Amino acid sequence: MSPDVLLQTPPTVAEPLNVSQPFTPEEFDEYVMRTYARYPITLERGAGCQVWDVDGREYLDFVAGIATCTLGHAHPVMVQAVTEQIQTLHHVSNLYYTAVQGELAKWLVEHSCADRAFFCNSGAEANEGAIKLARKYAHDVRGIADPVILTAHASFHGRTLATITATGQPKYQKGFSPLVPGFYYVPYNDITALEHAIAELDQNQPRVAAILLEALQGEGGVRPGDTAYFQRIRQICDEKDILLICDEVQVGMGRSGKLWGYENHGIEPDIFTSAKGLGGGIPIGAMLCKASCNVFQPGDHASTFGGNPFATAVALAVCKTLEQENILQNVQERGEQLRAGLNAIAQRYPDKVAEVRGWGLINGLELKADIDLTSAQVVQSAIAQGVLLVPAGPKVVRFVPPLIVSAAEIDQALQAVNAALASL
Ligand SMILES: *Cc1c(COP(=O)(O)O)cnc(C)c1O
Repeated sequence: MSPDVLLQTPPTVAEPLNVSQPFTPEEFDEYVMRTYARYPITLERGAGCQVWDVDGREYLDFVAGIATCTLGHAHPVMVQAVTEQIQTLHHVSNLYYTAVQGELAKWLVEHSCADRAFFCNSGAEANEGAIKLARKYAHDVRGIADPVILTAHASFHGRTLATITATGQPKYQKGFSPLVPGFYYVPYNDITALEHAIAELDQNQPRVAAILLEALQGEGGVRPGDTAYFQRIRQICDEKDILLICDEVQVGMGRSGKLWGYENHGIEPDIFTSAKGLGGGIPIGAMLCKASCNVFQPGDHASTFGGNPFATAVALAVCKTLEQENILQNVQERGEQLRAGLNAIAQRYPDKVAEVRGWGLINGLELKADIDLTSAQVVQSAIAQGVLLVPAGPKVVRFVPPLIVSAAEIDQALQAVNAALASL
């Protein structure tokens, strides 16, 4: 975009902000809380599926901001949407109507099973909204005083107090008690365990308000749900007026090769959440629901930034581009290419690789449990060869490139994984 607009309004500070001053990791850690174990790379610039560090070193980005940069980096559609909207209107709060928030909601409703959308800023916040809606439905419609939400072992739903509680992994909860009451965990893909849990919780009076699941568990190790499991859950929910909530934060927005992960199971949730890929890297989250469970009234839920014109304009541009450029077809084709290549690698190293699995462009390569090799080691080796990857747990290497990735870029990533497994 033309920098003219910046030149029209000279900065009022004496010195322009020196954002390009190199910041070493050591200096950085003196100012930023060390809540992350970061790789010692300082990234500066990106274009398409490439990013460059401050020393000008190029990396192929198969992390995409953790399954977020749907259209890669510096996509012209995003550059245009960002520029036009910031020049027009960027934030006014939800005291007023803005057409662009309505347009994004309309697009999402017309392209999903939902009837209404609520906008927020992250996946955790979207899941908080879903949890609140499910509890209010249980109180108002079913008269449940003490509702329980079932979630799965190895799930991931975010880092706020309610969402670490919903997350069925003790490592995220350790040190943060007391956790939020009203959650109960079941093993994923185990319908018998789920039926037993409901029978036990509902023994005296109905308590189970909702079942919150990922159609494919992302952080938990790229584990697809079983379709029979999801279909049976849908039946149980219909019979008992339990709400089915799908956390689509990672698997949604086209990453699975379908727009929403739940479509892979041929079911419709009552509520679903989106974030990561929704804004292509601009922070935005959404909680969507069927009209039948929309019990929220004015004042029940809110977010100052939620659905602001800036974020919703960019997300709308990302959504329309997904559709107009038929990017889902690329997700399916590149996903098949990636899995075929990873399976060939798995056959070459049967003593190291246990399994390759995934949908579309969310795939995992699981290392054998009985060897010392970790996903972190494979990721380190791939980075040394110029390919960014991210673990999904200690044994799974995750591949979540931008959805616009090319065939040549898939080959490049496969070569790096092959070389990493050869060297380790
Ligand atoms: C990343 C993720 C979240 C949390 O999203 P944030 O934007 O980090 O709050 C929730 N659910 C799933 C499935 C995720 O992958």
